[in-house]
Amino acid sequence: MPNFELITDQDIVKSFCTDSSNYPGHAEALVRPKTTAEVVEIVKEANSKKISVTTIGNRSSLTGSAAAEGGWILDTSLMSKIIEINHKEKFCISEPGPMLADFKKTIFEQGLFYPPDPTSEKECFFGGSIATNASGARTFKYGSTRKYVRALEVVLASGEVLNIRRPQIEKNTFGYLPFQNMVDIFVGSEGTLGIITKTEVDLIERPIAFFGGMAFFKTFSECLDFVVAVRKDLRPQVFTTTISPRACELFDHHSINIIKSDSPFKIPENAQAAIFFEQEYDPNSTDNFEKKLDAWLSFLEKNKALVDETIIAEQPKQQEELRRLRHKVPSTLFEEGGDYVKNGGGKISTDWSVPINRIHEIIDYAQKLATEAKLAEPVIYGHIGNGHPHYNFIAKSAEEKKQILDVVHKTCQKVISMNGTIAAEHGIGKIKKSFVKYQYPESIINAMKAMKYSLDPNGILAPGNIF
Ligand SMILES: Cc1cc2nc3c(=O)[nH]c(=O)nc-3n(C[C@H](O)[C@H](O)[C@H](O)COP(=O)(O)OP(=O)(O)OC[C@H]3O[C@@H](n4cnc5c(N)ncnc54)[C@H](O)[C@@H]3O)c2cc1C
Repeated sequence: MPNFELITDQDIVKSFCTDSSNYPGHAEALVRPKTTAEVVEIVKEANSKKISVTTIGNRSSLTGSAAAEGGWILDTSLMSKIIEINHKEKFCISEPGPMLADFKKTIFEQGLFYPPDPTSEKECFFGGSIATNASGARTFKYGSTRKYVRALEVVLASGEVLNIRRPQIEKNTFGYLPFQNMVDIFVGSEGTLGIITKTEVDLIERPIAFFGGMAFFKTFSECLDFVVAVRKDLRPQVFTTTISPRACELFDHHSINIIKSDSPFKIPENAQAAIFFEQEYDPNSTDNFEKKLDAWLSFLEKNKALVDETIIAEQPKQQEELRRLRHKVPSTLFEEGGDYVKNGGGKISTDWSVPINRIHEIIDYAQKLATEAKLAEPVIYGHIGNGHPHYNFIAKSAEEKKQILDVVHKTCQKVISMNGTIAAEHGIGKIKKSFVKYQYPESIINAMKAMKYSLDPNGILAPGNIF
């Protein structure tokens, strides 16, 4: 008899069966381990009976990756201990279950900083953000989650516990590159290769101070020119100003309309696009608030922003308000899309990305396709500084969903021809599998599958994800 509790009450199990994509999952039972030893026991039992196990964080995934396709759901919420915060060597070891925002707050209150900041940080677990390699606005400066992961404890489908660490050597010629650094194989693996039960991440010094801002533009195209100029300016060889944003996020005119009624800040009537930015500074150096602000205002002026209307948020409360407005865009669309799920429609969001110098071209192309298909205009917002805007469509019916997906497929093919990716942020999960073929040839997909099935021969972990 197993020592763990198998919750089979369907009223409870059903409430864990989908994620923020509304993908319809189903499962026979829910398990809620508290320790790695319990995870091992659960997985061994499931593997011996060929029962699938879908691990869940807080189910904020937008791809159906956390929606189980049968078997057991393994809920990580009871594994929520932050085990060690090491000030001297600047790292933290934690179980997967803390809410990411709480995890970051605990670290911040101790004078250190964990940079990854998905917009959903108040809705996702630390472990979920590792399993999806989440990124966010501050990825512009700090990179995505992967960069911070030093070591992992992972339970494989066999029940074997792997303890893996990012290599610390400077040279190595043994083996294929991904295997030289196994941490990177598991980060972003969407629950398909193992269950992450412990993670050690790098921490950095807490930035001394920052201000937030929102700059407005009379045209969408001028706003994109601005972004390209920011990126150019950041290249060290052509460094011409002292701006060094840690975030550079887009709002198109639809996104501006979403935040307008709820904004404590004045939003100019003639704005067709906006950029949300954050700038760190050091009050005790020549790079102080006034200097950085001056640099921003002159940079904005040079690049055709509506300088006088720029919002600058210096106080924590104002900064929090700006970030709340940024979050309001996806959460509003999520709710709006939810209203049409029963008609076979819903929200369709993209997370493709292209090299920044192709951004105008891809946006023009995607807009042209949407217009030709007579679709309602998408809402475009998000991580433009990384060449990665989110296109969000609301399909009111199954028929409209089909038309939108057709446009998204064509856009993704173009994205790949521009050396982009179909999934810069949310992974593949279940709902983006039909796009995979555009990015990699079949031989490479088969090599990935071979690795998955050599680690998980019965295919019990997160079936239906990626492949
Ligand atoms: C409003 C909104 C905004 C969002 N903004 C962003 C954003 O800015 N950036 C971004 O990257 N994402 C964003 N997302 C998507 C999502 O929030 C992230 O992918 C998040 O990191 C998922 O974490 P989670 O705990 O909810 O994981 P879940 O959704 O529960 O799971 C996601 C995947 O991870 C696997 N998994 C979870 N925990 C583990 C574990 N311990 N071991 C192994 N596998 C595991 C699951 O099997 C699944 O495949 C957003 C979502 C919403 C709803």
